[in-house]
Amino acid sequence: MSRKHVLLVHTGGTLGMAEPDKRRLDLAPAAHLERLLSRVPELQEIANIDLIAPWNVDSSDIGPQQWQRLAQIVAGAFLGASEPIDGVVIIHGTDTMAYTASALAYMLRGLHRPVVLTGSQRPLEAWRTDARANLAAAVETATLALPEVAIVFGDKVLRGCRASKVDARIYQAFDSPNEAPIGRIGVSLDLDTQRVRAPGQLYLDDALGTGLMALTVFPGMDQSLLQGVALAAKAGLKAVLVRAFGTGNVPMTGTASLLPMVEKLAGLGLHVIVATQCPGGSAELDLYASGRALLAAGAISAGDMTFEAAATKALWALGHPEQTMRQWFFQDLAGEITL
Ligand code: ASP
Repeated sequence: MSRKHVLLVHTGGTLGMAEPDKRRLDLAPAAHLERLLSRVPELQEIANIDLIAPWNVDSSDIGPQQWQRLAQIVAGAFLGASEPIDGVVIIHGTDTMAYTASALAYMLRGLHRPVVLTGSQRPLEAWRTDARANLAAAVETATLALPEVAIVFGDKVLRGCRASKVDARIYQAFDSPNEAPIGRIGVSLDLDTQRVRAPGQLYLDDALGTGLMALTVFPGMDQSLLQGVALAAKAGLKAVLVRAFGTGNVPMTGTASLLPMVEKLAGLGLHVIVATQCPGGSAELDLYASGRALLAAGAISAGDMTFEAAATKALWALGHPEQTMRQWFFQDLAGEITL
């Protein structure tokens, strides 16, 4: 079998950071990044590697513009390169990795080859780092038949649009609470081939909209402070993603009720999307009176999507007015929702 060719795209995050002392991490200069490959010599044994670094930032500064650029880089590598690329590995900070993975899953329609995001909790240069193993596993995954955007971290290969960062310290930093990993990393790297998505015909579909805000509901939230939310419609607000209790419930009696705000927003033609604030499980708006009232007011359920998948899907849907927000949320684009 001929050697696979993997494109490594370094975007920043802890993996490539310098650690001047044990209590501080800094973004590293370009020269440091160039040494990156030499610290993981086994990468060259797994595949032929090309390295590009379009930017080097903390992932808190990665958003829609960078998602589009990454989607364009991946599409260019898979569709346009003179020497074919078999898989792309994106080195990314862990903080917003699940958002980028979800956004890429929507923008790379009909993906036919692996796009693997990875990073680490400690820099590559640190003693007892997790970076080296994560990077090697990510490159190996990028050589397999996995036509999906995946996150490789610790001992798991996760469907990117199902994943969340679940821990800021331990080396198993990611999980996909509503779906089993699509692969396991141990002595061998095994994909659950039965559950891997079928390859399609790749095309880039990277339009994104703006005007999304999110609201986490909690007992004691002062509804009177939300009066102004409807005014934000004038400033470009188009959709509100509500992180509700349990299966999608919100306070609905007396002055604490969220319903007047939802009705007002819906009346203005804004989208109200309701997700659960539980890490696992699903918004099921027809189960309790409160959820049913939200439905009657025009709310859209995010089902069992992660918050990351729902927020990025809403942004993607705002850029795709050929269907309504409701229609997009009733459609499974990349394995992000159970219908
Ligand atoms: N703040 C870092 C980032 O997300 C954390 C990490 O990479 O783990 O860029």
